[in-house]
Amino acid sequence: MSKSKSKSLERYKTRKLLEELAEKKGYGTELISLYIPQGKQISDVSNYLKQEYGTATNIKSKTTQKNVQSAIVTIQQKLKIIPQSLIDEYSIVIFAGAIPQNGGPGTERMEIYPIVPPEPINIYMYRCASEFVLDPLRETLLEKDSYGLIAMDRSEAIIGELRGSHLEIHHRLTSGVHGKHRAGGQSQRRYERVIEQQVHEFFVRVGEYASQIYLGIPDFKGLFVGGPGPTKEDFVNKDYLDYRVKEKLLGTSDLSYSGEQGLKELISKIEPKISDVRYVEEKKLVQRFLRHLAKETGRAIYGEKEVREYLEQGAVAILLLSEALDIIRVTISCESCGHIREKTIHEKELAALNDSLASEECPQCSSSLFSVSETKKLIEDLAEIAENVGARVEVISAETEEGAELWNAFKGIAGILRYTPS
Ligand SMILES: [Zn+2]
Repeated sequence: MSKSKSKSLERYKTRKLLEELAEKKGYGTELISLYIPQGKQISDVSNYLKQEYGTATNIKSKTTQKNVQSAIVTIQQKLKIIPQSLIDEYSIVIFAGAIPQNGGPGTERMEIYPIVPPEPINIYMYRCASEFVLDPLRETLLEKDSYGLIAMDRSEAIIGELRGSHLEIHHRLTSGVHGKHRAGGQSQRRYERVIEQQVHEFFVRVGEYASQIYLGIPDFKGLFVGGPGPTKEDFVNKDYLDYRVKEKLLGTSDLSYSGEQGLKELISKIEPKISDVRYVEEKKLVQRFLRHLAKETGRAIYGEKEVREYLEQGAVAILLLSEALDIIRVTISCESCGHIREKTIHEKELAALNDSLASEECPQCSSSLFSVSETKKLIEDLAEIAENVGARVEVISAETEEGAELWNAFKGIAGILRYTPS
């Protein structure tokens, strides 16, 4: 339960663990969730658990009672090896319970998950339920700051939001105005007046939608509006936006495009102002790798084999791993004779592997106790090597164009070396 140095890796691990824990259900109300805030005395928690152990004797179902009590004991044992100094510095969450292992009653195995959450959770909570209580942990993964983005001209507008690594497109609107002028004196002027009226009505609609969306976001930090020509100024300078949204206008940008392409262009224009937003960080990290590749500096590496080799030599400065990477290493072992086999598979193939192993025998001793004993995600495997040699680890989402390229063109594994290899 060490504190990982890479924030993106920690968040990734927590996200994956949450997915796993959400699947786990107990037969009775016997899964324990324990949230310990920073600074809490471990002895207080232990005393509390001792009381709960006693209270559990009132549980009617003997199986549930036994499972609750052994979960409590498992947690108490874990608490004994957690130093007070760790809790003085971090908050801690422990999930424990008897989890059925692909089978009916009687197949339960005691599982315990102690976690240092990526952001402190300062609540004290003990819950015993048929599922783990995950919401407080889930909330720590929500990126707090949100920025509004509007890319528009007289014919179309896109209302977007950037939060963490995620770009959300809330709304697309079109005006029906194409800006083409027809020739001809009197009717030309009348035609222009009609167009101006249409544009005005379009701005009203854009303003209403944008205001409604942005006012509904509790952590709304600011708004950027961009587009070709003077349209965006016409829009922001008049009262099309609710004053509370308008107050949060952080800037306008000249763009070559409107629509979705304009939205992407707007993000690259305002990058220096939102450089701490994860979306921008991820773009820049992959761009750095791509620049080394284009300039043939020899410092850009990719693919599992090459990256692993350089990692082990301690030559990697930054390791880039796509969050989409779904490969796991599986250890299959025989409980009877100790025979071991390793396999690399896709995450989604694990269930099928478990099923097929259920009817397979150990090739060495023919025992049927031949099953998956350990699984390790390739991301965690590589990240572990990286952290041991002091390489920086960045888990990159596929939300940006660059992140998608890391996944599609480089199979999700790339790195930048500290120096050009000789
Ligand atoms: Zn065997």
